[in-house]
Amino acid sequence: MINKSALQQLARGEFTKGLLHMALLFKGKEKEGLFKLARQRRKECFPREEAEVRSVIEISNICRRKCNFCNINTHAKTSKRYLLGYKELMTIAEHIYNKNRKVLLFQSGENNSQKYIDFISKCVSNIKHKFSNLTIILCLGNLSYKQYRQLREAGADRYILKFETSNSALYRQIKPDGSLEKRVKCIKVLNGLGFDVGTGNIIGLPNQTITDIVNDLLFIRNFKLTMASTSVFIPGEESNYRNEPPGDLNMALNYMALMRIMYPWLLIPSTSSLEKAKRGGQYSGLMAGANAITVHDGTPAELKKHFPIYSTARFIPNEKYIKEIVTKAQLDF
Ligand code: SF4
Repeated sequence: MINKSALQQLARGEFTKGLLHMALLFKGKEKEGLFKLARQRRKECFPREEAEVRSVIEISNICRRKCNFCNINTHAKTSKRYLLGYKELMTIAEHIYNKNRKVLLFQSGENNSQKYIDFISKCVSNIKHKFSNLTIILCLGNLSYKQYRQLREAGADRYILKFETSNSALYRQIKPDGSLEKRVKCIKVLNGLGFDVGTGNIIGLPNQTITDIVNDLLFIRNFKLTMASTSVFIPGEESNYRNEPPGDLNMALNYMALMRIMYPWLLIPSTSSLEKAKRGGQYSGLMAGANAITVHDGTPAELKKHFPIYSTARFIPNEKYIKEIVTKAQLDF
């Protein structure tokens, strides 16, 4: 029987730890009820019922970090290292702009060399100069205050920096050369510089508990955000976690719906990791209240295999597929 009282409490804005724990485990009719409430909240905050479509350019896989869950780290041997050139990047940006795309996401490994930041700043500045109504999101990891400020001054609009997990001990396990404290400082610096900021977690990390995931939902309150995401842990074939079991798609979808109910104003993407977990996962994400989706049409085809962030065989959604699922979810572009 459907747990109406739990849904009613969530609808009234009662977000106790016990209730969130229960809702993360919802299945069947209860899950459908949760998703329905999430879609209602989305409609109230975004009455035009549009999905923000983001084109991703994976600029470089050069990374100084050693994240245990990732295929792109300093230990990965098989991928060749690459960095797109200036002309190549500008051509891609123009191509994407001409397709009428409004949002461009630059993603790369974490590379804090000043030469790299100067290069990105130059690209951002020139793209914004040529296509002023194109929103640029950066996802480049932890950088210094001066580097973030330089990128903001170059014209970057938004920055995504995932906290990954709100459990600081677990954070040290998954990112042995980093700390949650440092990550939080970076997110707050980005806020202070006037970026529209996004953050997020991963569901199903080794040694992660449901209590950790409940705490992740509440942790989001600490930041001034315009975007938040979740992804399902996929044991990357070349990562240190290659023998671990994958995360639970059902829980990730429930988490997305709860984020929508708790923080209805956020742009929440339905990420390709959901699709990797199960075919149709990204459509389910939209049905759970997501309102953004990424299209991997920015990275040159021959380089895509060298950006295997969570899987060397990851699902790379193309434009046709994205259109199909957005339409099926009764959202506009
Ligand atoms: S998750 Fe990001 S920072 Fe960590 S190794 Fe992978 S690319 Fe580098």
